[in-house]
Amino acid sequence: MTTHPDVCRPGENLPAFVLWCIDSERKRQHALKAEGRFKYTPSEVPAVRGSAMLSEENGEVARAALAISGFVQEDLTPADYFKECVQVAAVAMALAEGVILFNQNPGGHPLLEAS
Ligand SMILES: [Mg+2]
Repeated sequence: MTTHPDVCRPGENLPAFVLWCIDSERKRQHALKAEGRFKYTPSEVPAVRGSAMLSEENGEVARAALAISGFVQEDLTPADYFKECVQVAAVAMALAEGVILFNQNPGGHPLLEAS
């Protein structure tokens, strides 16, 4: 199954589909780390860095929103907007996971580090 919004049909469990897409995005983040493309996932970084990552993703939502609304000339679609919204949710989920990891092992997680 794909995370493209068009595969969710009327009558399907919409929240369940979106949550599945968010979980798939988290798995993609882990896969990118395993492939060496990222050094870490957002659940493993200091809060200040994680917050910046979330803001960067939120900016991509805004860019897609501006594009599909015709305010900027960029070839993006509602599916791109959906993808960016899912990525914001996945990063926020990872940041929340990081707090739990920190609570479980304060000395083993960089949550409170300043850089
Ligand atoms: Mg993005």
